[in-house]
Amino acid sequence: MAWRYALVIDPAAADDARTDFADTLTEIDPAAPALSVGELSTQRGDGIFESIGVVDGHPQEMNAHLERLAHSARLCDLPAPHLEQWRQAIAQVADAAEPGESVIKLILSRGVEHGPTPTAWVTLAPAPDNTRARERGIRVVTLDRGMDSGAPARAPWLLLGAKTLSYAVNMAAIREAKRRGADDAVFVTSDGFVLEGPTSSVLLRFGDRFVTPEPGSGILHGTTQVSLFDHLAERGFATAYEELPVAALTEADAAWLVSSVRLAAPISAIDDRGLPIDAEFTASLNRYLLSPRD
Ligand code: PLP
Repeated sequence: MAWRYALVIDPAAADDARTDFADTLTEIDPAAPALSVGELSTQRGDGIFESIGVVDGHPQEMNAHLERLAHSARLCDLPAPHLEQWRQAIAQVADAAEPGESVIKLILSRGVEHGPTPTAWVTLAPAPDNTRARERGIRVVTLDRGMDSGAPARAPWLLLGAKTLSYAVNMAAIREAKRRGADDAVFVTSDGFVLEGPTSSVLLRFGDRFVTPEPGSGILHGTTQVSLFDHLAERGFATAYEELPVAALTEADAAWLVSSVRLAAPISAIDDRGLPIDAEFTASLNRYLLSPRD
């Protein structure tokens, strides 16, 4: 991946009254080494991040991503990000985007071991080509996440609703899905409820109703799913958050994995059971997701 642009942020306190943060944002060479060896993000995955889809230079759903960054920071006891400072950083990075799809990553790390402040940086890179997944669909397998549906309430230190940098397990799940001949995975609880993909939310269609698992069930609340619920409601469809037993996956009329950069990828098979793909409807969702959204 050829990184196109990167800057580091000198994080301001959340109550900093400044309105111009230009002198806290430092452009760096995206190809050059930039982190200290003492970085806790690289040593321990101790930090949080966001991936924002960028279309023709427009960062999609920037405020929803910033709110989730602040939510993750709260769950991880990290200092609250100064949202205006991050907005200005995103605007500066987005200015360097080329036409087409890119991805901006926001990273807020606990910082350098024994250091005084968090470290923060923002990068821009071209988005991977997701055309095939969007048009032809993806095969998924269900994978037990090894926790029951009571785990998020019983063990909040698992940080299940935070977008932390500790994604080794998520990446391992995708590798396991590929070993099983699929493209991606859907995590399920050990007591049989649908959760999310390792890097996506699950959206199911039953007639004119669209449902997704409850955000309180230990999943990340997806910005793409929220945006699609607004769009679907505007088109007259019903939307709901529900506790979904695993059987709902194959009973659905259609299913998608959705996320900020892949957008909506229709699921063509779950655990080797085929699921119909509505190519035209999916294309309409992706047209919406590719239009400028705030
Ligand atoms: N769930 C997980 C675990 C994710 O990593 C992601 C995105 O990367 C999502 C859901 C979807 O979130 P969003 O739509 O905000 O990209």
